[in-house]
Amino acid sequence: MNVEIGIIGGSGLYSLLAESADISKETKFGKPSGNISIGKINGIEVAFLPRHGKRHNIPPHKVPYRANILALKEIGVKRIIGVGTVGSLKKEYKPGDFVVFDQFFNMTNGRDDTIFDSDSVAHVSTAEPYCSELRSIAINSAESMKIKMHGKGTILVVNGPRFSTKAESRFFSASNMDLINMTQYPEVALAREMQMCYLGIGIVTDYDVGLEGEPGIKPVSFDDIARTMKENEAKVKLLIGEIVKKTPNRQSCICPRSLEGAGATINL
Ligand SMILES: [Zn+2]
Repeated sequence: MNVEIGIIGGSGLYSLLAESADISKETKFGKPSGNISIGKINGIEVAFLPRHGKRHNIPPHKVPYRANILALKEIGVKRIIGVGTVGSLKKEYKPGDFVVFDQFFNMTNGRDDTIFDSDSVAHVSTAEPYCSELRSIAINSAESMKIKMHGKGTILVVNGPRFSTKAESRFFSASNMDLINMTQYPEVALAREMQMCYLGIGIVTDYDVGLEGEPGIKPVSFDDIARTMKENEAKVKLLIGEIVKKTPNRQSCICPRSLEGAGATINL
């Protein structure tokens, strides 16, 4: 199998792939969220994994993040495109806008967030957690397609599944966070541990619980998210297709060398 690109996203993205076939994987961390579909986008073979399961029945805090990343690694994937909906904590990130993240801020708890937790230890750097090459490709692709894309943004990750209180949301905005979701962590960090490239694309669906003092901005509801996602589904698919087409073999990014100097396999 020669599948270098893996996509993790919602089940709405299924029809992305042409001529797909499902494979079932088992890892040392158990089964991933669902079967991995292998198929083609623009003639290029890719793997697709539905983050919340095929029937969207796995909540954010129960997603088997480690099994997902390891399963993709084991079938040969080197570069991951992670797609998901995000809430906005700043006025300039408007519903319907796309974002490529450049930083995350983890506020989840209780999640298994390392692959090196039994017979070895690794301390990878996540100073720049997202693949620089893939970020440039995504930004250029959106520009050429006239899709409104923010070239950077800090994504705050919370446990969920509930949405924020007004007090929390106010605090997050004041802390200079740009966006919020429930799944970016530990997905991106685990990819880094496995020396895989990770590109995080967010589709802004709402203004979290409403921006303080901004008239006419209502708190988020799941229906709003589902509607915005539906409206943007076609655009997301086209964008991913373009990114896949433009993605070369890895050249200049640091991702393949993330375990160098990380002390992997040494028990400290
Ligand atoms: Zn990379």
